[in-house]
Amino acid sequence: MYDKYRSHLIRELGQELIDASNINIRTIASKIEEIGFSCLTCGKCCRCIFGDNRVLLTPLEIQVIANRTGNIVHEIATPATPDDPEITNLIDTGGRIHTFGWMLVRKNNGDCNFIESADISNRCRIYDVRPMLCRTYPFYIQDMELHTSECEGLGQEITPEESLKIARDVIDRYVAEIGDTIALYEKFEGFDASLESVVITTSPADGKRHVTYIVHDSEGSHKAIVELNGGTNFID
Ligand code: SF4
Ligand code: SF4
Repeated sequence: MYDKYRSHLIRELGQELIDASNINIRTIASKIEEIGFSCLTCGKCCRCIFGDNRVLLTPLEIQVIANRTGNIVHEIATPATPDDPEITNLIDTGGRIHTFGWMLVRKNNGDCNFIESADISNRCRIYDVRPMLCRTYPFYIQDMELHTSECEGLGQEITPEESLKIARDVIDRYVAEIGDTIALYEKFEGFDASLESVVITTSPADGKRHVTYIVHDSEGSHKAIVELNGGTNFID
């Protein structure tokens, strides 16, 4: 039953991938030009100012950032979940939380881990290797339509050349995200769900509390032990 449903989803996404690959770049570029955009480097999208500033990213993007910065994976990414680990119904019989994909680690104040401190600047410390989501912000494509997120720079003048460049990036991102989701479904092996609660462990050494996640992504499944209330993640 599950395999049939999975095959159905993969087939649907396969069709969406073909459609996405055929999106007319000039149509998207002219929409972007009509909307207008110039980044004012206010930093609001990277900080916890617009509310949800989670940056979802693929395993490949994590690797690129790791290569560039020398950071290890758990310093870059954490399981893509709501902030409160109790808010989930994807718990297995071992009390572990199952999630799909990764997001950039944030500081305790909610700002992205890679933005400079507010009293220094709004500079991104990994600008040249920042994830696709950041590169295309505030634009994204969903169900073949161009959308925008909250942004101070919308409505600003933009050149046709710049619109074309953003259009190319936003289409590439859409195609890459669909491809990544297909690979995730192909690798996903399911798990035994439970109605029990999440198991929280306490370290005898320092009293810190942890939960265990199983993160499913386009490369398979990974265990991540995450400290409650922010802090260190340990990822297998
Ligand atoms: S919110 Fe918009 S203008 Fe401000 S930094 Fe982000 S992209 Fe630039
Ligand atoms: S990676 Fe850079 S651009 Fe993206 S949210 Fe973090 S600081 Fe902002």
